[in-house]
Amino acid sequence: MGVIGDPVAHSLSPLLHNAAFDALGLDWVSVAFPVGAGSTADALTGMRALRIAGLSVTMPHKDSAFAAVDDTTEVARRLRAVNCVTWREGALVGDSTDGGGFLAALRRSAGFDPGAKRCLVIGAGGAARAVILALAEAGAAEVVVLNRTAARAEVAAALAGAVGRVGSDADVPGAELVVQATPIGMADGGASPSGELPVDPGALHGGQVVADLVYYPAQTPLLAAATARGAVAVGGLGMLVHQAALALEQWTGRVAPVEAMWAAARGQMLL
Ligand code: NAP
Repeated sequence: MGVIGDPVAHSLSPLLHNAAFDALGLDWVSVAFPVGAGSTADALTGMRALRIAGLSVTMPHKDSAFAAVDDTTEVARRLRAVNCVTWREGALVGDSTDGGGFLAALRRSAGFDPGAKRCLVIGAGGAARAVILALAEAGAAEVVVLNRTAARAEVAAALAGAVGRVGSDADVPGAELVVQATPIGMADGGASPSGELPVDPGALHGGQVVADLVYYPAQTPLLAAATARGAVAVGGLGMLVHQAALALEQWTGRVAPVEAMWAAARGQMLL
């Protein structure tokens, strides 16, 4: 197994998957393959030739992998993006497990089910779109999208169909779930996290769940503000672990040892 990306040395995928293989007693291994932009199709040809059973796909290949696989799942087709490729009956099948991973993390960390809930997503990039689609498919009452570039917000909100719309900062207090899906708050190469906040912290309150997709640092300025205002704060590490778990289940046909994967992820974050 492996992960393709550029840069890819920082990817936690091999760590998570190797921890899972150990826990399952499987003599399998996952490694990181640095693959430059423009070489996605070549990398997948190599995957076929080498009989690599599964690949995680990270930036900048998520869109180009969609075009290069033999078949895709419904979710991948809706997103036109792939983060996981699996050998299935001689064909490479592309899927996106980001949205399913997000929902699983939300359930595990906050006991939150988006069914009939008012949800708000900040951002309209690849991660935001996966979350928007997953929330709508899970039965959210509404999925409001805020984004710096309005045109991208429209496209992202359309993924949620009838329950999707573009909103404004005024929608934040009324949301039961607020998801932060931009790089704001991310530590840059080990430097201090930016103190910037994507929303006015005064709009956050108890009774809300605030999820940040950023996972490094574990405690972003937004999550600190959410906790201080009495909201339930959920970091991005859970989505990372659970999307990897869903990929592993496709590759191996086994139930993912999620606790072992969580332990490996947490151990790495403490380094
Ligand atoms: P992306 O496709 O590049 O999209 C970035 C989004 O953030 C866009 O909507 C962009 O707005 C917005 N944005 C960027 N800088 C901004 C700023 N300074 N102020 C306001 N908005 C800003 O990136 P992505 O792949 O969706 O990733 C977004 C974040 O999610 C990253 O931090 C990434 O690490 C994280 N992520 C986490 C996981 C996980 O498993 N936890 C998985 C995937 C991604 P415009 O449209 O206006 O450019």
